[in-house]
Amino acid sequence: MTSSLFSSLPLSKAMLANLQALDYSEMTPIQEHSLPIILEGNDLIAQAKTGSGKTAAFGIGLLHSLDVGQFVTQALVICPTRELSDQVCNELRRLARAIPNTKITALCGGKPMGGQLASLERPPHIVVGTPGRLLKHLAKATLNLDYLKTLVLDEADRMLDMGFIDDIKSIIERTPEKRQTLLFSATYPEEIKHISSSVQHEPQDVRVETHHENNKIEQVFYEVEKDTRTDALFNVLGETQPNACVIFCNRKQQCDDVARQLSSRGIAAKALHGDLEQKDRDRVLSQFSNQSCNVLIATDVAARGLDIKELPLVINYELSHDPEVHVHRVGRTGRAGAKGKAISLFKTSEMPKVLAIENQSQQTLVIKSYRDIAGAQVYAVRPNKVTLEINGGRKDKLRAGDILGALTATKELSGDDIGKIDRFERLTYVAVNAKKAAVALNQLNNGKIKGRMFKARQVN
Ligand code: ADP
Ligand code: MG
Repeated sequence: MTSSLFSSLPLSKAMLANLQALDYSEMTPIQEHSLPIILEGNDLIAQAKTGSGKTAAFGIGLLHSLDVGQFVTQALVICPTRELSDQVCNELRRLARAIPNTKITALCGGKPMGGQLASLERPPHIVVGTPGRLLKHLAKATLNLDYLKTLVLDEADRMLDMGFIDDIKSIIERTPEKRQTLLFSATYPEEIKHISSSVQHEPQDVRVETHHENNKIEQVFYEVEKDTRTDALFNVLGETQPNACVIFCNRKQQCDDVARQLSSRGIAAKALHGDLEQKDRDRVLSQFSNQSCNVLIATDVAARGLDIKELPLVINYELSHDPEVHVHRVGRTGRAGAKGKAISLFKTSEMPKVLAIENQSQQTLVIKSYRDIAGAQVYAVRPNKVTLEINGGRKDKLRAGDILGALTATKELSGDDIGKIDRFERLTYVAVNAKKAAVALNQLNNGKIKGRMFKARQVN
């Protein structure tokens, strides 16, 4: 029998106290089912949807077997992107507060080698990184994995999608044969089993199903004909008038096309896909999450790690090839108890896919023709906020409070006029009431923030 209390696990007092301090009062289901297996030292394949607490599951596990007195790299977490590595690093650092002097280093591409080399002079206890950069360090012998105890493949499905399989195998060749290998994934495609059998030893399998939650999501499928897909999309938006919506496409090019079509009709829409540079990606995500952009058009890969609460609508512009991916896409709407809606467009020839989805989600789907919504009113929702970019960020020690203070200093703007503030290394995005954008810009460009001058501009 399992208990959902962390105190039912053989964890140190310091770790239990730390979890309490983090406000982790109970284990999430994936933690409850995987931690006993991990703490016994077994290999594991764990599947649970995004946001289910997988990082803490392996984080608590790898910290449990860590010997902080040994200055060798004992745990390695391989992640698909820099952004996800950073998220994992942050969570591990929070968990590691229970063990003073634990050294955790991120090794990701897109960052200068110099700082990483310096930080590897004394080997970190834990390394988190992306495959390409890890291989680079292994080649330079700046990273040594001879004493590794725990290897984690995080977001394994996505790493497979991105073609990292060979890189991962090359990294694994540099680790000891006797090690614990933990594989975490949001979906469970066939290839996961293949990689597991080549790198794991008698893994135990834990899956936390998401089926029941899908029942809260209303799913409607519209059958479209050739050349009617875009019209159908406009009609779906007009019919539903969502204040926020993610549209999934299978290809990057298609994301751009759809974004262009929506923008040309005055809709605040942005594409998010793997060809964007990190800074553009950060900006688009900020614009969508701060509600200065209503519609995000994304590929599955790009939408990973996207954490948007209360998304009222997901549209599948094209059906995914994999029913599990469909379930995952749709699972992004209707979070936190709110009812969500998912609308999918499909061609007659794709009926078998629709049936496979019906089967997978164990839910009766509503299937209609796009003609049922022909002549819907136009989609009229427009954002009431705009995004301003300030040329200062975390590295400039600019805090959200400083910016809020600068904006409200003359009382022309009130706290209600200001939305989300997202800080990056050298940039900050702040959402402000669209009607007060000029005042806000004036304030930021002509007044000081924290005693210094910064530049601000509106981004579209
Ligand atoms: P996943 O990797 O499954 O997508 P994360 O590990 O990023 O999910 O966790 C999602 C969020 O849940 C994080 O903000 C994390 O701090 C929080 N979280 C994890 N475990 C718990 C817990 N036991 N209780 C409360 N919050 C938790
Ligand atoms: Mg994760």
